[in-house]
Amino acid sequence: MPVIRPCSHCGKQNRVPAKFLASSGRCGFCKYLLPPVAEPLAVDDQLFDEIVQNSPVPVLVDFWAGWCRPCVAAAPEVARTAANMAGRAVVLKVDTEKYPQVAGRFQVSSIPNFVVLLGGRTVTQQAGLVDHNQMERWLKSAAAVSA
Ligand SMILES: [Zn+2]
Repeated sequence: MPVIRPCSHCGKQNRVPAKFLASSGRCGFCKYLLPPVAEPLAVDDQLFDEIVQNSPVPVLVDFWAGWCRPCVAAAPEVARTAANMAGRAVVLKVDTEKYPQVAGRFQVSSIPNFVVLLGGRTVTQQAGLVDHNQMERWLKSAAAVSA
């Protein structure tokens, strides 16, 4: 199941396989540059597994819910991390109200809850509000472990 991304040039929808989310590509219609994903992706349980298992770069997961004030406070930090780490990491958001089974697999009992995965394995997991610098440190150290 690919991620659907609009081309910034022609506006047409491109289907990007999970393993290429951190890669530069070309729009399938106009050949304009399709840059690496630079924003958090809201995923369902299927897309979560697809991306976590196929991503060649570290994946940061933000487990959140709309009623959670610290989660709302974390959202701009998560977005900034996705922008700063574009091409080097993929950032996912899992709504724990909609997808409790994914949260259950990670024993998420308090949110926000952040998990960094590489090659389908958990590298880091921490609950509570942190800033983008901390999130980026997790991702960089996960990438360094794999290198
Ligand atoms: Zn295009």
